[in-house]
Amino acid sequence: TEARETREFKTELKQLLHLITHSLYSNREIFLRELISNASDAINKIKFDSLSHEELLENNKDWKIKLIPNSDAKTLTISDNGLGMSRETVIQELGTIARSGTKAFLESLKQKQADGQPELIGQFGVGFYSAFMVADKVTVVTRPAGTSKEGVRWESDGQGEFTVESIEKDARGTDVILHLKDDATEFLDRHTLRSLVRKFSDFVEHSIVMDETTKAEDGTETTSEESLNSRKAIWLRNRNEVTADEYNAFYRQISDDTQDPARVIHVAAEGSQEFKALMFIPARKPYSYRWEEPKPGLKLYIQRVLIMDPCEAVLPPYLRFVRGVVDSSDLPLNVSREILQSNPILDGLQKNLTRNVLQGLEALRNLEYDKYVTFYNDLGGMLKEGIARDWNNKEKLADLLLFQSVKTPAGSYLTFKQYVEAMPENQSEIYYLVGDSREVLERSPYLESFKARGFDVLLLTDPVIDEYFLPNLPEYKGKKLKPVDRGDVHADGDQTVTDEEKSRFAAMLQRFQTLLPEVKEVRLTKRMTESAACLVADPSAMPAHLERLMQQMGQ
Ligand code: ADP
Ligand code: MG
Repeated sequence: TEARETREFKTELKQLLHLITHSLYSNREIFLRELISNASDAINKIKFDSLSHEELLENNKDWKIKLIPNSDAKTLTISDNGLGMSRETVIQELGTIARSGTKAFLESLKQKQADGQPELIGQFGVGFYSAFMVADKVTVVTRPAGTSKEGVRWESDGQGEFTVESIEKDARGTDVILHLKDDATEFLDRHTLRSLVRKFSDFVEHSIVMDETTKAEDGTETTSEESLNSRKAIWLRNRNEVTADEYNAFYRQISDDTQDPARVIHVAAEGSQEFKALMFIPARKPYSYRWEEPKPGLKLYIQRVLIMDPCEAVLPPYLRFVRGVVDSSDLPLNVSREILQSNPILDGLQKNLTRNVLQGLEALRNLEYDKYVTFYNDLGGMLKEGIARDWNNKEKLADLLLFQSVKTPAGSYLTFKQYVEAMPENQSEIYYLVGDSREVLERSPYLESFKARGFDVLLLTDPVIDEYFLPNLPEYKGKKLKPVDRGDVHADGDQTVTDEEKSRFAAMLQRFQTLLPEVKEVRLTKRMTESAACLVADPSAMPAHLERLMQQMGQ
């Protein structure tokens, strides 16, 4: 066996540990959630690996996460029979490798004056270190799957260094032993542990247990295992047997979100495709999007075994705000990672799930409009992105868009459908104007003739995304979409300029043309009712907004 060696933590980790040990006092109990989640991940990994290497299991597949409080030693151990770690892995994963999230978490802690939101720690991929919120020393004893009994013992007081030494360990898996701080002995209390598991880890799919010793009247002691979590695969249950609280708790467990979702989409598909899916639409943009774009996809289970997390192939990238789980009965358990990039079953799954998400959004809009508006204001841009990318669902997506318009009061919205229904008989096209804000757009002289004729104009105020998706939507239900700042679009109608008028103003127009060499053509129009003149773009020209954007970028 190799001797004991002492190593230093990576610099950012030292800073992180310093903050954790010196300044984080609130929400300390989340350490338990983090360590249980690591244990559960490790069990999922060995379960997956053993699909192709049964021998790794060593007949030990009674998947279990065990909590062992020891009041005499003042330690709490979280023990699992998961994948375990080799010496090399321990050194990398618990101390020397730079995790991309470490810096981001440090930043967020500093911004929040240290004691801000330690509960977010897991989202940055540094959840393990939350152990030092409650422990002044942490010992990890672990042995990787395989036949050798050689394991490793990692230990640290979180002050900048850790030690590793080789040891013998009979059972595969990892024990994390927390030497609790004097002010953290509440975590030895069985009742506290029970309620924390119920609160944070109830849906962990593996059994979380604690030994319970009962003394009979004659003094004999019997020990039994108490199960602490309900461990129900919530997505396999019947929709009408799951409460809103259970859905919300599950969502919080699988997402980075701290709020309840706006809508739950629970699907049980039978027939040509068989799967269960549980998906969630967030209420608004989750806090975590500030430092990380959400990863597209869902957790993919095949017959209750977690195969891939996230599996990108099951949802299109524009639906990356959706969080959830899909459990397929059609895919083979020994499916390879390559196959999971793309295959016909997955394509079918993606189609089906996408349809369900879009129906969920539609239902949210119809049934809980205020919630939909809140969602849309934060994340509607992703639906516009979908119009440009998902041709099959273009119509459905277009119906989900909300617009401000000349006629909507500030803060209210129109759909395309409502716009079309309200169109006067002599209007045949849908008009819009793109710009930075409603205030700027409302002052635009382009609107005058449309207003004068009672035509509404949609006001789009997210130029980057609007100019990107609009070219992909030339019409809605047979009505052409027309930007009002383009030369061939005008609401002149019957008020066209007569030949007599044209010749009467010819000399003046000629004079303007000479004075304004940058302008391609000066034309007489009746489109305006208040302003004397306005600039319009050539129909084939780049949208004014893109042009301005390009100028800003120095192109
Ligand atoms: P994350 O879970 O987001 O990867 P953590 O800081 O919680 O980040 O854990 C760091 C890494 O340590 C894990 O990715 C895993 O490789 C390893 N690890 C932690 N706990 C265990 C465990 N109980 N069994 C096996 N590996 C573990
Ligand atoms: Mg973790």
